[in-house]
Amino acid sequence: MEKDKKPLLEVKSLKKYFPVEKGFWRKVVGYVRAVDKVNLYVNEGETLGLVGESGCGKTTLGRCILRAIEPTEGNILFRLNDKVIDITKLDKESLRRMRRHAQMIFQDPYSSLDPRMTVLDIVGEPLVVNNIAKGEEMEERVKDLVKIVGLNVKHLKRYPHAFSGGQRQRIGIARALAPNPKFIVADEPVSALDVSVQAQILNLLQDLQAEFKLTYLFISHDLSVIEHISDRVAVMYVGKIVEMAETEELFLNPKHPYTEALLSAIPIPDPRLRRERIVLSGEVANPANPPSGCYFHPRCKYAKDICAKEEPEWREVNPGHFVACHFAEELKLQGVPA
Ligand code: SF4
Repeated sequence: MEKDKKPLLEVKSLKKYFPVEKGFWRKVVGYVRAVDKVNLYVNEGETLGLVGESGCGKTTLGRCILRAIEPTEGNILFRLNDKVIDITKLDKESLRRMRRHAQMIFQDPYSSLDPRMTVLDIVGEPLVVNNIAKGEEMEERVKDLVKIVGLNVKHLKRYPHAFSGGQRQRIGIARALAPNPKFIVADEPVSALDVSVQAQILNLLQDLQAEFKLTYLFISHDLSVIEHISDRVAVMYVGKIVEMAETEELFLNPKHPYTEALLSAIPIPDPRLRRERIVLSGEVANPANPPSGCYFHPRCKYAKDICAKEEPEWREVNPGHFVACHFAEELKLQGVPA
């Protein structure tokens, strides 16, 4: 962790295992390791991009951090008014009070908004629930929020179906902003949108971050989006973070073979620049029955005997550059200009 920066959030050895039940008596016969001993931190005012293939546990991790689903084990340390609280230890009432400081923007602007509620009700609800404002004061604050996210205040009484996908995502963002949070988990917030609208929403999120000093955990499967918005990037594979570094460092100088393979798939606009695309063989590991040792070893072209036997240690190989690979210091991997 960088010495001069303060982490707002620190996740330590976080696990979320879902039981696999079988038979009439629903006997537990195993566990799906959706989040498996994850360590990461997010500095105040920055965006940490969380990237990985779909199904790797990114969304589960984001929800565990906000305790929208209960983690199985581990610690989630959140700095609030210069005190560090462990979110995993909060009782129901303390968690409810803490939630106004940590909000979520959801992937699908079509299903994440209640179709029976008007914009006023949707954006105003967190203000009422958190005892921040009600009645006319609430309405005034909703008007401000709606303007901030670029919507028309005349449309407060409209229902979500009357808006386009991009406008609905703006409503979702206004709702997340309503209780004046410090931290936002944005879960694939642009992946359901057209490319032109994606850029507008990404720019809006960046403007809001600067204006309100927000800290983001930005989840996406799309490395181009991650590169555009993130100060640092964490790469996830089958429930584990395998690499984390500053964006430019991770793109130019990857240390994990999985990161190298993901980067090799990014299209380069200049046809004169040739680059080898690494096509991963084999299937993504099954989180209910992961391989021994390094989970990536059946697909890794650099794997050696030790990789199937021992789990690689999560360690800092350069200042602020963390990786879990036995050969991180030796491999010369191919990056891309960020
Ligand atoms: Fe590949 Fe071995 Fe490194 Fe895993 S530990 S990424 S299998 S080289």
